[in-house]
Amino acid sequence: MNQPHSRFWEIFFQVYEELPRQGPGSRDCASQALSLCTHLPTNPTILDLGCGVGGQTLHLAELLPTAVIGAIDSHAPSVARLQAKIEARGLSERIRATVGDMSIPDVHNASIDLVWSEGALYNIGLPNALRICHDLLRPGGYLAFTDAVWRKEGPPPEVRDSFDLDYPEMGWVTHDIAAIQAAGFDLVGHFTLPDEAWWADFYTPMMQRITELRTTYAEDGEALAILEEIATEPAMHREYAEYYAYEFFVARRPSH
Ligand code: SAM
Repeated sequence: MNQPHSRFWEIFFQVYEELPRQGPGSRDCASQALSLCTHLPTNPTILDLGCGVGGQTLHLAELLPTAVIGAIDSHAPSVARLQAKIEARGLSERIRATVGDMSIPDVHNASIDLVWSEGALYNIGLPNALRICHDLLRPGGYLAFTDAVWRKEGPPPEVRDSFDLDYPEMGWVTHDIAAIQAAGFDLVGHFTLPDEAWWADFYTPMMQRITELRTTYAEDGEALAILEEIATEPAMHREYAEYYAYEFFVARRPSH
């Protein structure tokens, strides 16, 4: 997805910003990951890194009704969309959405009970991100994050090429667990996101949005070609999902 030209990104964001979320995930998966965080305080302070338009931020607010949540993303239009949802739902007292870079979060170290991040930490390099998350957490605090991982040897060239472009360092579950432990965390648990979590709030609305935009751009060959390119991702997943997965990891900063 690292196409350099600006027309690509213009169309890309016209597709992605409209979606309920910008990567695989679901309320059920968030709930399952939260169930592993057994020692959260009653009013936890949560930081959602790379929140996108905030699908999971809003799920967290529902699942933990006494939590206070900070949500950070570097893409200002996504943060504006989340902010509109926060205001529409009357959640301004509990969720603060800000534009920022998760590699230099404007948050005190050792102040967070739960750092959450779905499909975003890899953007700043997983080992680097894990160190940052570790420092943000209070001793005994939790990190819950998802990351793309390989799950079957010998992916077809189109799958390999796609991830080489978007996430060349992508490893296997064992690599992520080693990185989690190297950053000073105890691994609490992990699970693979079910296929439903790729489709319901992500690829199905993406395909619908692409269909809408094909009508909008019916006379614009360049835009149609870009939409075709974007549509290859869900098509690849439909055919080759057995080669890769999204894994939810829950880890804990040791209490002392
Ligand atoms: N967590 C959301 C979800 O699951 O729907 C969004 C996931 S999307 C795959 C990754 C997000 O990370 C994008 O919204 C992108 O703007 C954000 N991002 C990338 N690099 C970032 C950085 N350095 N700081 C903050 N956000 C970043």
